[in-house]
Amino acid sequence: MTNELLVLGSANADLVVEVGRRPAGGETVLGGDTVVLPGGKGANTAVAAARVGASVALVGAVGDDGYGSVLRESLESAGVGTSLVKTSARPTGIAYITVTPDGENSIVVSPGANSDVAPSDVDSLSFDGVRVLTCSLEVPLETVVHAIGVAARAGVRPVLNLSPVAELPAEALRQLDVLIVNEHEAAQLAPDWRGLLGLGPASAIVTLGSRGAAVVTRSGVVEVPSIEVPEVVDTTGAGDAFAGALSARLAQGDDLVQAARYAVKVAALSVTKAGAQPSYPTAAEVRSLTG
Ligand code: ADP
Repeated sequence: MTNELLVLGSANADLVVEVGRRPAGGETVLGGDTVVLPGGKGANTAVAAARVGASVALVGAVGDDGYGSVLRESLESAGVGTSLVKTSARPTGIAYITVTPDGENSIVVSPGANSDVAPSDVDSLSFDGVRVLTCSLEVPLETVVHAIGVAARAGVRPVLNLSPVAELPAEALRQLDVLIVNEHEAAQLAPDWRGLLGLGPASAIVTLGSRGAAVVTRSGVVEVPSIEVPEVVDTTGAGDAFAGALSARLAQGDDLVQAARYAVKVAALSVTKAGAQPSYPTAAEVRSLTG
């Protein structure tokens, strides 16, 4: 089986509970029923790519437990290959999310198995037929750095969604084909968008929320406006939807601006529905958009 796209990153079970208010230290409050949702930036990115038709596999890890099985099944049912998701001796990564009536989230992430995704897992990968390797964080930075180098040397285009901002060696930044950041991350990294290229990547994309995205290359900046959405329901996972759709299109041969035009449509559709993965559109839904 060949995949045109590999995504390296986390898979988490999101355990979501609504509470009237957050407990103070030493206090107990009752919440609503727990909702278990598949999440993690790597899994979200891979699912977004699969939904729009990419042949994609996730490189990651889950635990030998019930949540691990749930995550594997949800990846497979979305069409993401899981043969490169190893079973770790550590528990599956979990995000404990409390939501208050004002819609605010408080989150504790227990990375668990995601911390076990190691450089040696990258060494055992075959890059036959792979055109793009997209990395997200929430797995060890040394593994991400190693993967970028291995991919670049194998002639595979390395893409990195640097969210949240982490310090990468200059060499890894120079090997990147596309650096994806949001506006706030961009501001942390460079005084202006073109300055992102000074860090080393061949190109950069700055996602701009409801305004779409900016594509930054040596020939200049191209702003790709968002499409209008009737109602913003939930922006959770919009950045991952963008990264997944962009990677899918790059792997299928689009140039960067074409891929970004497609990705803003996918990400905009994703904010019109609740949740991350369940909100990601199919290629047919994207096609049915006018404009
Ligand atoms: P992140 O979620 O990583 O902080 P952004 O807020 O920039 O990143 O969102 C990522 C992408 O999702 C944007 O580039 C855009 O395409 C889409 N998006 C986010 N919010 C909206 C919105 N309110 N309306 C339409 N598209 C949106």
